[in-house]
Amino acid sequence: MQTGEAVTKAFLFFLFTKSLIEAYLDNRNRKHILANRNKVPEKFESQITIEEHKKAADYTIEKIRVGKFFNFIELILLLIWTIGGGVEALDHLAKNLNLSEMMTGVTFFGIYMIISFILGLPQSIYSTFVLEEKFGFNKTTPKTFLLDLVKGTILGVLIGLPIIYGILWIMNALGEYWWAYAWAFLTIVQFTIMWAYPRFIAPLFNKFSELEEGEVKDKVEVLLAKTGFESNGLFVMDASIRSSHGNAYFTGFGKNKRIVFFDTLIKNLTADEVTAVLAHELGHFKRKHIVKGLIKSVIFSLVGFAVLGFMASWTPFFLGHGVEAQNTHTGLLLFMMVAGVYTYGLIPLNAMTSRKYEFEADEFASQYANAQDLITALVKLYKHNASTLTPDPGYSKFYHSHPPALVRVQHLESLIK
Ligand SMILES: [Zn+2]
Repeated sequence: MQTGEAVTKAFLFFLFTKSLIEAYLDNRNRKHILANRNKVPEKFESQITIEEHKKAADYTIEKIRVGKFFNFIELILLLIWTIGGGVEALDHLAKNLNLSEMMTGVTFFGIYMIISFILGLPQSIYSTFVLEEKFGFNKTTPKTFLLDLVKGTILGVLIGLPIIYGILWIMNALGEYWWAYAWAFLTIVQFTIMWAYPRFIAPLFNKFSELEEGEVKDKVEVLLAKTGFESNGLFVMDASIRSSHGNAYFTGFGKNKRIVFFDTLIKNLTADEVTAVLAHELGHFKRKHIVKGLIKSVIFSLVGFAVLGFMASWTPFFLGHGVEAQNTHTGLLLFMMVAGVYTYGLIPLNAMTSRKYEFEADEFASQYANAQDLITALVKLYKHNASTLTPDPGYSKFYHSHPPALVRVQHLESLIK
C-alpha cells in the first residue's frame, strides 16, 4: 500500500470517529435533558420556575438539533475540499491567473475566504434570525447584521490577507527553519491584535460607555482596591443591540486592561451580584489563568508550526488528503483544514483544565466578595441565558469549560461554611 493511501485511510478514520463521537455525545445530552425536563432540580426551585426550566431544555435541544445539521454539512464540505478535489481545483484556478508565486498564494487564500464566507452565511443567518429569535434572545436587526458582515469582512481582509502574505513569504524565503520564524511572526501579530482589540477593534462593533456613578461603581471600586487590581477603566458595552445574553469580561493586557460589563448584566443583577461576578473574573486574572492560557496557546502553536514544517515537505500528506499540487499555499490551507480532525481528542483535556480554573476563580471570589451573591448571580445568568441546569455528565466532561450548575453551586456553598 502506498503511503498516500495510508494517510487517506487514517484521515477518514479520524474524521468518522470524530463524527461518531459528536453524534453519540449529542444524543446522550439530548436524552438526559429530556429526561429531566419536567422537574426543576431541587436546589434551584426557589429561583427558577418550571416554565423557565422547560424553556432552557427546549432551547438546548434545539441548539443540538441545529448543531448536528451544520456539523454534517461541515463534514461533507471538508470531504469535498480535501479528497473531493476542492483544494486542488482552487489551486488550478489561482495558477491560471498567471500571477507571481506570492500573489498566486494570496489570491488562492482570498478566493477560499470568499467561498467559505458565503458558505457560512446560512448558518449565522439561521442561528440569529430563526433559533435565537424563536427563544426571544435575538435583538439583532437585519441592519446591524449587515453592518457587522461588512465591517467583519473589511477587517478580515485588512488583517487576514497581510498575515497570509507574511506567512507565505516566510515559508518561501526563510529556508529550512521557516516554521519557527512563521510561529514568531504569528505570535507577535496575535499579541498586537490582543493589545489593539479593546481600543481599536471592539469599538467598531459596540459602544462602550464609562460605568455610571452609583452603587455598582462604588462596590466595584471597593473590590478593585481590596484585590489590588489596576485597570484602565470600567466600561459598559451595549451587548443588548445584538442579544439579551449577559456577561462580564476583561480585555487587553498590560496597561491597556479594561473591565467590560454587558449592559444586560447590569440590568438584571443587583450591585452585589455584579461585584461577585467581577470578583470571579478577577480570580481568573489573579490566579494567573490568563497568563497560563496564553503560554499554553503559544506553545501549542509552536508545536503546530513544527508539524506543519514537516508536513509541508512530506508528499504523502498532500496526496493522502486529495491534493496533487504540492506547494506552500496548498500545504498551509490543507493543514488549517485538517488539523482539527486530528486534535479533536484534546478537547476534553482543555475542558478539564478550564473547569479546574473555574473552581479556583470561585474560591477567589468567595474570599473577596460574597459567595451567596455569586450563587444567585449564576442562577440568574442560567435563567436569562436559558442554559440547561441538567446537561448530561458525560457530555459536560467532554466539552464544557464550566462545571454543571449544580456542581458549581455545591462547591460555592461549601466555601461559605
Ligand atoms: Zn470563569
